[in-house]
Amino acid sequence: MKALIYLCEGQCALENKPIPEIVEPTDAIVKVIKTTICGTDLHILKGDVPSCKPGRTLGHEGVGIIDKVGAAVSAFSIGDHVLISCISACGKCDYCRSQMYSHCKTGGWLLGNTIDGTQAEFVRIPYADSSLYRIPECADENALVMLSDILPTGFECGVLNGKVRPGSTVAIIGSGPIGLAALLTAQLYSPAKIIMVDIAYNRLEVAMRFGATTVVNSSHGNAVDEIMKLTNQQGVDTAIEAVGIPATFELCEKIIAPGGVIANVGVHGTQVDLHLETLWDRNITITTGLVDTHSTPLLIKLVQSKKIEPEHLITHRFKLENALEAYSVFGDAANTNALKVLIEM
Ligand SMILES: [Zn+2]
Ligand SMILES: [Zn+2]
Repeated sequence: MKALIYLCEGQCALENKPIPEIVEPTDAIVKVIKTTICGTDLHILKGDVPSCKPGRTLGHEGVGIIDKVGAAVSAFSIGDHVLISCISACGKCDYCRSQMYSHCKTGGWLLGNTIDGTQAEFVRIPYADSSLYRIPECADENALVMLSDILPTGFECGVLNGKVRPGSTVAIIGSGPIGLAALLTAQLYSPAKIIMVDIAYNRLEVAMRFGATTVVNSSHGNAVDEIMKLTNQQGVDTAIEAVGIPATFELCEKIIAPGGVIANVGVHGTQVDLHLETLWDRNITITTGLVDTHSTPLLIKLVQSKKIEPEHLITHRFKLENALEAYSVFGDAANTNALKVLIEM
């Protein structure tokens, strides 16, 4: 079968690999129908993710059809149409029992990291019973691919951790796919204001279409003043950090209102200063975490009822044989305006 593999820093390739086999009785083999590329895949390519070794098939998002099931799989059978979660969960360990699937003692983020992933014609899914979700009839597959990772990430790590409430004021720093996923799901809670912050005009334009009430371009360097002005000098109740660099986290520290929540979503590779000298008396909360995907069943229902329409995040489509082109378009988002690129088999 064809698979997109990580070769070495800066390089990936489309190669032929054997079709994966059942290894554990809890495994399923899924024939992938659609997958996509995540910002994390670009991090792997930059060499930022040492757990992902050369030769690994990339990808942790997708929908497909079950091709084989192990003897212990009871919730699914061959031919079932399924959504693949980016997080594999044993369902039995202490962390899984408290819905912190990202910390599953034998699972977590495995796909396209420590085991072969979804950017291939077939993928082996460990703990299939608790890591796959049945796709309802007539559901939009394109929308559901967005539910493997980015929608639950924006929703759980941004909106739920950030305690977005009716009438509250929210700032989302970063208007990429994850920031936009937070924007889509924040609206479920009717905040009074959602201010989107980015350095790219194109992404801010998209944010306005997706329901932002105001946008702030932070490339001019006066984003703090603009946001404070927009909030009567109070700051925001929820600041969602969806970039992962020191400047954007420090922006959140400067605009958070007393009693507010800074919900970190971005993946940070650099030390960031915590300004306790200004925050110690402001009753704020800082939350962190990788997505647990406990909200996936809820998000599937919201897609079905059209309360959220994440398919609009897809800007480009490719066939698997053109996956390298898909990577270059996604990796050059500043020029191609790519948000999510769909890869179809
Ligand atoms: Zn991802
Ligand atoms: Zn577990």
